[in-house]
Amino acid sequence: MNKIPVAILGATGIVGQRFVQLLQNHPWFEITALVASDRSAGLTYREACNWVLEGDPPDVLLDKIVQPLSTNLPAQLVFSALPSPIAREAEPLLAGAGYAVCSNTSAFRQDPDVPVIIPEVNGDHIKMVEWQAARRGWKGLIVTSPNCTTTGTVMPLKPLDEAFTITRFFATSIQAVSGAGYPGLTFIDMTDNVIPYIKGEEEKIETESLLLLGWLTDQKRIPANIKISAQANRVAVQHGHTVCLSIEFENKPSVEAAVEVLRNYRGPEISWDLPSAPPKPIIVRTEPDRPQPRRDRDTQNGMVATVGRVRPCPIFDLKLVSVIHNAVRGAAGGSILNAELLVSGGYLS
Ligand code: NAP
Repeated sequence: MNKIPVAILGATGIVGQRFVQLLQNHPWFEITALVASDRSAGLTYREACNWVLEGDPPDVLLDKIVQPLSTNLPAQLVFSALPSPIAREAEPLLAGAGYAVCSNTSAFRQDPDVPVIIPEVNGDHIKMVEWQAARRGWKGLIVTSPNCTTTGTVMPLKPLDEAFTITRFFATSIQAVSGAGYPGLTFIDMTDNVIPYIKGEEEKIETESLLLLGWLTDQKRIPANIKISAQANRVAVQHGHTVCLSIEFENKPSVEAAVEVLRNYRGPEISWDLPSAPPKPIIVRTEPDRPQPRRDRDTQNGMVATVGRVRPCPIFDLKLVSVIHNAVRGAAGGSILNAELLVSGGYLS
C-alpha cells in the first residue's frame, strides 16, 4: 500500500518530537509536513527544534522546512500536538478542509460528537465520527486521545470495570515534568519539590474517565456511572506518570481474580492487529516495588500500562499502582494507534 501522507502540528514540542520518533519506518504513515508556530516556520527542523529525546531526529527530516499552521498541508491525516487554545481554532478548520485530525489536545474531548479513544478500551467509539460527519458537515473528522494521566488511569480500570463493575475510585497522580511541555518547569521549580497542582488535570481525569468507560446508544455517548476523586501532583521525574488508585466495586473481586483479569485483558478485537498495538495493553508486575517510571515506562515501546501493588484497600476494595509513558502511550503513541484504528475501520477516504 502507498503510505498515507501525514502532518505533525506542534512538531517541535515534546509530543511533536515523539511523533517524529515513533513515525520513523511506520508501515502505513509517512511524515510529509512539520508544522509549528511563527517562531519556527521557515526554519529547517534542525534549526527550529531543540531535540530533547534520545538519539537524533531522522536525517530525512533535518533539512525539512517547518511550515506555519494552514489548511493547505501536503497531507491526508494530521496529528495535532498544539497548545489547546490554538487547537480549538485550527482543528475544525482542518477537519472542514477534509483532513482527518488525530488530536492530543483537550480542545474537543468533551464535545458530544467527538470521540475520545483508547482503542483497547473503547475502540468501538470510533463510530462517533459518522454522527460527527452528519452533524458538522465536515469533509474530514476529529478523533481525540485522552489526557495522558487519564490514559494511565483508565487502561487498568477498563478490564476491572468490565469484570466487576466499578462504583467509585480515588486517583492520585505523580506526574513527570515532560507532561508540562517544553521548556516547561524550571530546575529550580522542580528540584527538592512536589507541586500539588496541575491546572485542569484533576477535572480531566474525573470527566474523561467517564467518557472512556461509558458506552454508545443511538447517536449518544453515555458516561459511566462512577464517582471519581482525583488529585494531581508534579514531581521531578523526566518521563512517565504514576497513578495510585483505590477502587470500589459492585462485585468485590479477590486480589488474585483482579490480577488474572488484568493479565488476560486484550481489549476489543478491532484493536488487536493495529501495527502499533502491544500484544497485551497491560503488564502486571508482582515485585513489591514496581512499577517505577524509570524502569517501566519504556516497556513494549512505551505502549503499555504497567500495573503493580494490587492489594486490598481498607476503605474501598482494591488498591493498585499504574505507570504510563505520558508522551508515548499517553500522547503520540496513543494518537498513532487511533489513526491506525481509523484506517483499519475504513474511515480514511
Ligand atoms: P510543547 O512542548 O509546548 O509544544 C507545543 C508545540 O506547539 C510546539 O511545537 C510549538 O511550536 C507549537 N505551537 C505553539 N503555538 C503554535 C501556533 N500558534 N501555531 C502552530 N504551532 C504552535 O507542548 P507538548 O507537551 O508537546 O503538548 C502539546 C499538546 O499535547 C498540548 O495540547 C498538551 O496538552 C497535549 N499533551 C501533552 C502531553 C505531554 O506529555 N507533554 C501528553 C498528552 C497531551 P514552537 O516550537 O514553534 O513554539
